[in-house]
Amino acid sequence: MTLRDYTAVSGEQTIKTEVVVVGSGPGGAAISRVLAQAGKTVWILEEGPAQSNFRPNMAHTNRYHMQEGGAMVARGRKMMPIAAGRGVGGGSLVNSAICFRTPDHVLSGWTHVLGGDDRYRPQNLAPIFDDLEALLGVATTPESIAGENNKLIVRGVKAMGWPGGLVRRNTPSCVGCGICNYGCPSGGKASVDRNLIPMARKAGATIQADIKVDRIEVTNGRATGVSGEVRHPDTGEVVGRLNIEADLVVVSCGGIGTPRLLHHAGLASQLGPATGKGLHVHPGSAVLGRCDYPINMWKGATQGAWFEHPDMPGVLPHTMSVPPAALMMLVARAGLEAKASIKTLSGYSGCLVMVSDKGEGSVSATSDGQALIHYDLLPDDLQRIKEGMFVTAQVLLAGGAIELSAPVHGVGKHKTAESLAQALQPTTVTDFITYASHPMASCRMGVDPATSVIGPTGEAHGVKGLYLADSSIFPTSLGVNPQLTTMAMGTAIGRNLVG
Ligand SMILES: Cc1cc2nc3c(=O)[nH]c(=O)nc-3n(C[C@H](O)[C@H](O)[C@H](O)COP(=O)(O)OP(=O)(O)OC[C@H]3O[C@@H](n4cnc5c(N)ncnc54)[C@H](O)[C@@H]3O)c2cc1C
Ligand code: SF4
Repeated sequence: MTLRDYTAVSGEQTIKTEVVVVGSGPGGAAISRVLAQAGKTVWILEEGPAQSNFRPNMAHTNRYHMQEGGAMVARGRKMMPIAAGRGVGGGSLVNSAICFRTPDHVLSGWTHVLGGDDRYRPQNLAPIFDDLEALLGVATTPESIAGENNKLIVRGVKAMGWPGGLVRRNTPSCVGCGICNYGCPSGGKASVDRNLIPMARKAGATIQADIKVDRIEVTNGRATGVSGEVRHPDTGEVVGRLNIEADLVVVSCGGIGTPRLLHHAGLASQLGPATGKGLHVHPGSAVLGRCDYPINMWKGATQGAWFEHPDMPGVLPHTMSVPPAALMMLVARAGLEAKASIKTLSGYSGCLVMVSDKGEGSVSATSDGQALIHYDLLPDDLQRIKEGMFVTAQVLLAGGAIELSAPVHGVGKHKTAESLAQALQPTTVTDFITYASHPMASCRMGVDPATSVIGPTGEAHGVKGLYLADSSIFPTSLGVNPQLTTMAMGTAIGRNLVG
């Protein structure tokens, strides 16, 4: 129905509704669509702007479409940037559109954690995935828009004989401009603001953007509403406060945002010790492969190819697609060396290598509502990243690269994968540039309130009428890119709620 921005609120206002959903990313959009289509009166509250505000510029993207200005970091033995999207559509606005279904073995493992509850078994989620993939136009990236960067990976994987190739993405009208992480300027990406959110709106849902929820009201053990400050999206000036009284409160603020809000709102003690614990992030690093012909890794479908080594479950390399400015930071040092490297940038291909992490971190909140994230990479996870980098180097060379390097201190340049692996061997986590954009499992679903926050229906153990529906609820790490699983879980929880 209505898409409201900050101008709709001035001073303090209170509204009554059946359901309020906080956060409009893949999880919030999916559950809102189901509840609105079932006839519920739904309000969706979103911290980010109402309209996408895309520019092919990292500072601009961070300002408008990344949570906490793109400056969220996990503290530990070293700092690791953690990225999460913001705006109506959440992470789907700025993600690379890679779509994997949850692996069957992961879902089967969840049944055990859920005390035998089998609603998320592969066969039960399959029809939801079918439905979502059709809505989002998920398909294998066409070769015509792959670009040389992805084609090199496809060639290399084929030569090595491993599973992989062009990846499935939700980009039915993609023209291969390669800037998905700044938002899609042509509408080629089917981010949830283009499908699930409009479907919820068509069914009557109201969206209020520019509001950061900071309170969740609980009366006699039951959630009764939320409240947040509404700000001007450009100046940050507070224009008012919106209180929503609701029969049902759904928090869908993402793997960092949900525990951040629950802690900031003072609910952690009621919700139990698992609130914000068990964070997984799919940490990773990268390998670059320089070629003696133009690759232009910023052209072609963003991250359009992938592979896996048959003996390395949970290690998932994808094509790396970054613009020249970001590539420059990875390959260059300073001064004349940086100047000289400009000429070589077009020849670089590369892969990000992420792992399904065994290590776990935690999320809470500072007194002003910022995320307080702690995460230490386990030695075992770092070792698997290094092994993944070795096989990635093999793929890059087999695809046509002639020289290897990596964003790891002191590793240098190499002509063979073995030599790169040898150089990586003595390195420690402090030598690595690591990165993560898949925060999840920080408010887990389970049956034991000591180790989980919500039960299999999505309702919190400690507060009636409070539901979570986003990537924070996964009982484990996934091992694949999480947006499709997040939408499937949001859809399933919504369907459970409306019977
Ligand atoms: C750069 C990047 C690339 C990625 N690439 C891929 C990919 O190719 N494939 C894939 O599967 N996944 C990818 N991901 C991850 C994927 O986008 C996320 O897993 C997914 O968006 C999670 O959905 P969510 O609903 O849990 O949370 P989010 O998408 O994070 O949505 C949460 C929303 O809640 C809002 N919010 C937070 N706190 C508040 C508050 N207090 N009040 C109001 N609103 C609030 C946020 O602004 C945000 O819009 C990528 C992520 C990033 C950042
Ligand atoms: S590669 Fe370009 S056109 Fe394709 S989905 Fe991404 S931003 Fe849109």
